[in-house]
Amino acid sequence: MQLIQNSGCRMCGNNDFKTVINMGKHPLVNSLVNYEDLHKEDPQFPLVVKQCMACMLVQLVEIVDAHAIYTAQDYLFFSSDMPGLSDYFARYVEDDVRPHLRPGDFVVEIGSNDGVLLQHLRETYRVLGIDPSTNVALRAIKRGIPTVPLFFTEDLARMIVNENGQAQAIVANNCIAHLNDLEDLMRGVSRLLADGGVFILECNYWGGMVRNGNYSLIYHDHYSYFSLQVWRAFARKFGMRPFDAWVTPAQGGSLRLFLCKDNRPATARYEELVAEEAWTGLNTYETSLRYREAVRQAAQALRDKVLALKAEGKTIAGYGAAAKGFTILAMSGIGVEHISYFVDDSPAKQGRFTPVEHIPIITREDAATKPPAVFLVLAPNYADVIIKKEQAFLEAGGQIVVPFGSEIRTFTIDSTL
Ligand SMILES: [Zn+2]
Repeated sequence: MQLIQNSGCRMCGNNDFKTVINMGKHPLVNSLVNYEDLHKEDPQFPLVVKQCMACMLVQLVEIVDAHAIYTAQDYLFFSSDMPGLSDYFARYVEDDVRPHLRPGDFVVEIGSNDGVLLQHLRETYRVLGIDPSTNVALRAIKRGIPTVPLFFTEDLARMIVNENGQAQAIVANNCIAHLNDLEDLMRGVSRLLADGGVFILECNYWGGMVRNGNYSLIYHDHYSYFSLQVWRAFARKFGMRPFDAWVTPAQGGSLRLFLCKDNRPATARYEELVAEEAWTGLNTYETSLRYREAVRQAAQALRDKVLALKAEGKTIAGYGAAAKGFTILAMSGIGVEHISYFVDDSPAKQGRFTPVEHIPIITREDAATKPPAVFLVLAPNYADVIIKKEQAFLEAGGQIVVPFGSEIRTFTIDSTL
């Protein structure tokens, strides 16, 4: 595992940084531990969020080599295992991809995972997925979605153009935050995208994180936290420009951004978002300092809640062993002494243990034999799905606790969402 210290900002190259929040040392959140490795010490790495004072991009400057995260071990996130994600991408395709395409067009997805989005396009268009994590790429190929198991680079873009021609649409969802070399990405996109084509990306949104005091997205494989303003300045360097954008409900508020090479007019919702960032001062360091305080309060509020439940003698289990949950637990100082086990529907996670704390991950069925008094749901975006699914648990007197920023909500059979 290799630490990389960037010499400058990954969007503008300047090296005038200020610290947004120093989260201390954390394990790599996607490296669950097997039973036979429990006696080993799990490596932990510094997690310090900084902001570039030139272009204002919020980012990790010291990072862990992505090859180690995606290829040297099994990357455990299969998109299709996530509840509701296939529906989310079906709607995404209808609303925001198909309107830009004609039948037979060539569509490339960067970070295509197991083909959860491309499966909705392959009947009508020529599709190609790109994903560096070999096991998810293999899963996509098995499902009939051609997928290249490599990182997207300018070199790969050149090869794809040689073989398939340019693409009318390039899609990239929740993967750009994982890239250290954003300039190479944009050179590749610019080369691969046809002149009248559209580059559609969805990434974390700094505006959403600030609004909700959400820090669950901060972990080692998220290198950057984006605003519209930083994208506008950055895209210009590659002869591209954003013309449409909106904030989706995913991950507590994600930025869906549309870029082109031509001069098509910007949409009203795009102009509104640009204006909102300006009048809220989203891209200022003052906002970053307020965010730091909000995160500290949110972590403390969750810790207080968990300690209060333990003081009442209640057993607590985690629901969904996801990366973002581990960041929340670590920041709140909640560990194996508070959480008896996690339940998770993903077979790739069951039977393994969370890093450092070594909390076991079991199936929901196994949990039924020793049900907790409280399920702690650390992914607020899945809370409604889980609450619907857990009606029997609630009817039996169980509670579901969900942190929404510093507001901790408790759901019982008597409460409604
Ligand atoms: Zn910068």
